[in-house]
Amino acid sequence: MKAIVVHEFGEPEVMKFEEVSTPLPSKGQVLVRIGAAGVNPADTYTRSGTYAIKPALPYTPGTDAAGSVEAVGAGVTRVKPGDRVYLARSISGTYADFALATESQVHPLPDSIGFPEGAGIFVPYGTAYHSLFHHAQALPGETVLVHGASGGVGIAALQWGRMRGLAMYGTAGSPRGRELALREGALASFDHTGAEYRDQLLAATGGRGFDVILEMLANVNLGHDLKLLAPRGRVVVIGSRGDVTITPRDLMSKRGTVHAMTLWAATEAEEAEIHAALASAMRLDAIKPVVGRELPLMQAPEAHRAVMAKGAYGKIVLIPPSE
Ligand code: NAP
Repeated sequence: MKAIVVHEFGEPEVMKFEEVSTPLPSKGQVLVRIGAAGVNPADTYTRSGTYAIKPALPYTPGTDAAGSVEAVGAGVTRVKPGDRVYLARSISGTYADFALATESQVHPLPDSIGFPEGAGIFVPYGTAYHSLFHHAQALPGETVLVHGASGGVGIAALQWGRMRGLAMYGTAGSPRGRELALREGALASFDHTGAEYRDQLLAATGGRGFDVILEMLANVNLGHDLKLLAPRGRVVVIGSRGDVTITPRDLMSKRGTVHAMTLWAATEAEEAEIHAALASAMRLDAIKPVVGRELPLMQAPEAHRAVMAKGAYGKIVLIPPSE
């Protein structure tokens, strides 16, 4: 099979498109024929070698994917060959024609969701759900700012919020990103490239501030987020790429809280809840990933450059050659 293989950490070009042997599922394992693999910013941090999670070399990148079950090992009962599935992690990496996974990493994908969309489920929707409902404990009627709403996690958060009766607001850097945020559930969307939008955000809440802020770029925004909080408001730091200065008094006066999350730290019970919520929301057609760009698997380096560029529009996914 074809796969992307990283032999050394570094720039996107360290990802090589190679012929490797197709894995065989052992007991309790599932072999999935990949229809599409999702590209997440964390894949780029791992590839560069600067992330907390550093796999042994060589490795095949990718956490998210969707496809069909090719073969199952002994004792597997939850899926059978031919079933459509999405992956939430894998053993062998998802940037490939096939990925080997444990039975617990494989989840049913309804016919209404194509493989490219299915490749944008676990990390974005899991992160948004864990942030909104486990960390912030957002309740229907509360106001939520998705600070960075045009990308994978932002769109997922807007869709979860729309479904759960939250009053959602979003920001994006491009006009089409702001339009997308409106389409996917934001009551209003704002341009985070200027400075004046912070006053506009406060005005949108009648001066009260937001009950919850989901922050995609804390090193730029955290100090300002604290000034945008409603009484007892919660900021959830999802993404950060550097240091930031804050004024703790802003938090004190609002009795606010800053949570910092990582999906990898979700407990088994929390992850089971995420997949149960996903199954029901997909059945109801209440959530659907937006795919902004599909690239052939061999263009993984370009996909890594694109996911770190400005002007996000939903998900970027890789399509393997056998598709
Ligand atoms: P993505 O698809 O690349 O989207 C990035 C988002 O950040 C876009 O909406 C982008 O908006 C926005 N952004 C850019 N500049 C911004 C600014 N100044 N203020 C606010 N937002 C800004 O990435 P993603 O998958 O949605 O992930 C978003 C972040 O969360 C990344 O940093 C990622 O590493 C992190 N993350 C963390 C976890 C975790 O477990 N903690 C899990 C998943 C993701 P424009 O491009 O429109 O400007």
